[in-house]
Amino acid sequence: MPDSTNPSNPGKKVSCMEMLQHILDGDATAEQQQHFKDHLDECMPCFKTYNLEVALKTLIKTKCNGNGAPQELIERIKSQISQNMPR
Ligand SMILES: [Zn+2]
Repeated sequence: MPDSTNPSNPGKKVSCMEMLQHILDGDATAEQQQHFKDHLDECMPCFKTYNLEVALKTLIKTKCNGNGAPQELIERIKSQISQNMPR
């Protein structure tokens, strides 16, 4: 049993941001997706960022019909996301 149950363990092999990126890019394996879902229960920064990113993607799809979102809008939402990330 790896100690992935400890969210503050500095020795984990994949960082939260890396894991998030794989999930959001859609190139995570089914195993990684499952691991990430478990991880969301114990990692508030990931939970928040994931939900914001998903909301952002949905918003872009809805508003722009897949024709691309205005860069300004993306930047604005992204800065809101980074404000929610603890340093
Ligand atoms: Zn995390």
